Amino acid sequence: MDFNTDEFFYGINKSLYYKTEEQKNEIKKMDPEYLTRTGTDFVLLPNSPEFINHNEPFEPMYIPKQTILEESLRREIERICFADTLLNKVVFDCADPSPFTKDVDPATYGLEVLPYYMPQSKEDSTLVFESRFESGNLRRAIQICDYEYNLILKPDYYTTMNTQWFYFSLSNTRKDVEYRFNIINMMKPDSLYNSGMKPLMYSEQGAKQKKIGWFRDGHEICYYQNNMKRKNGGFYYTLTFAVKFQYDFDCIYIAHCYPYTFTHLCRYLKQLESDPAKKNRVKRKQLCQTIAGNMCDFLIIGDFNNGKEKKGIVITSRVHPGETMASYVMEYMIDFLTGNTHEARILRENFIFKIVPMLNIDGVVNGNYRCNLAGVDLNRQWIDPNKKQHPTIYHTKQLVKKTKEERDLVLFCDIHGHSRKKNIFMYGCQGKDPNRKELVFPMLNRNNCSVFSFKDCCFLLQKDREGSARIALWRELSIINCYTLEMSFCGADFGKYEYFHFNLDIYKEIAQSFCLSIIDCYEPEQIKVKQVMEEIEQNSLKNQQKDDKNNSGDEGSDYSNDDPKEQAMPQQQQIQLQNNDQQLGSQTKKLKKIPLLPPKKKKGQ
Ligand SMILES: [Zn+2]
Repeated sequence: MDFNTDEFFYGINKSLYYKTEEQKNEIKKMDPEYLTRTGTDFVLLPNSPEFINHNEPFEPMYIPKQTILEESLRREIERICFADTLLNKVVFDCADPSPFTKDVDPATYGLEVLPYYMPQSKEDSTLVFESRFESGNLRRAIQICDYEYNLILKPDYYTTMNTQWFYFSLSNTRKDVEYRFNIINMMKPDSLYNSGMKPLMYSEQGAKQKKIGWFRDGHEICYYQNNMKRKNGGFYYTLTFAVKFQYDFDCIYIAHCYPYTFTHLCRYLKQLESDPAKKNRVKRKQLCQTIAGNMCDFLIIGDFNNGKEKKGIVITSRVHPGETMASYVMEYMIDFLTGNTHEARILRENFIFKIVPMLNIDGVVNGNYRCNLAGVDLNRQWIDPNKKQHPTIYHTKQLVKKTKEERDLVLFCDIHGHSRKKNIFMYGCQGKDPNRKELVFPMLNRNNCSVFSFKDCCFLLQKDREGSARIALWRELSIINCYTLEMSFCGADFGKYEYFHFNLDIYKEIAQSFCLSIIDCYEPEQIKVKQVMEEIEQNSLKNQQKDDKNNSGDEGSDYSNDDPKEQAMPQQQQIQLQNNDQQLGSQTKKLKKIPLLPPKKKKGQ
């Protein structure tokens, strides 16, 4: 391949750094209400990577090597002991000006923005990192050896502790070389990366030449506590993995889960509205503006032509921006509900669905994992949401209340991803009803979906989650069927998909079976409901109060590691690391904060 062509310069894909005339025209035609705003003074590149939906068939998890923790710690200690032999060269920072390209005019290369690093010759194999695109969140990359890099993620705005989601790209690869990446400022005490999960990757060459979309890759994967002390006590964690790329001068994207951006949602909604078969089944309405000034929409789906009395259902998702699978499940649900099947028609004739597909748009745009731009977890604000600080929650709550006034509101569900458990399951609320009616809907889901795990469901009312949608709306509005749907970032540990990663097919399966379970739950004969009620009776599930320590996943507070006593670290690891100095710590110093811009005012205000 030529080093510099129309498409590439210095091994870097040009298309990330400039917009074609055609793209500029398309943007001009788009409704300006829906253009992405960051709400920060953060540069967003003219282009986001193109997403290819096609993905690999079922991809197996890896089997963790017994000695992997030991090996990873040995490497960590070597890095500390031989610190002065490391390159320690900052090759990317998403906010700081680049010493490599600061005097270069992007126009020289026909670009709008320049990468942080530009290789000096064809022989310069330094990787060129990038994350200044929508949902990207790499803060800094430090080359420590020829083919090894330490990576630092950007925490959620106004927080110091929300790092788990990652999404970035790298260019100028060399084929068949073993690269190693260490993401050194992870926060959670444990991770599914120790239970067989692999990171997701996307190769531009693979996409172009073989039409391959996102795939799982990487080996020697390990997640462990490192020796970098956190200000408020405790230590950071490292995710380390090695990978070989298939092409020279390729551009690779690496992510925690299949990315799903706000732009992707806007395109999808536009398509939905303009579909002649669907546009009479769905209405798109504006809910409110986010803090950054992005428009948050909701959908109403139903048969608007028949006057039959309808029950109400509200479904929301993506309150946690890093849980991207929630958006895929939501999209598949919308597809199903607006589709041509007999079941979809029954649903539209009998229900009105109100759907808020993306509750935390600003978080999604900025690559946050959990919080919004005010630095709060929106899924703790449902008791008394603030109109200015949590506008989408405030207005969604109004929407739920209004639906309840208008009709029989029978079901509320908020869709999430789960970063510590495997499988797909639900959290509900156990009330005083001796018949445990809240168990019925999850059990119907179990019957309709081979990946749904009823044993992982939990119906406790945990104190620290009183502000979540599930508990707050259940208490205030007495919605018996008030749930969160949780999907593992990894995969299943039972049934036909055991040892395989979840993929878009699985997200589609759960979305469809969720919709079919609504029919089972409310059909007049109640045939399947009676069956599961009997099962509840027989198995004395009625009195079951499962206290599942693991369920503190993503709906709950993930950060039990705030309390250093709770840190789950092998003792051997503690002893080895305590004696070392904090060499790695120096790499995180001088990270300047990225300030927020004042919120955009609405027109006419
Ligand atoms: Zn969540």
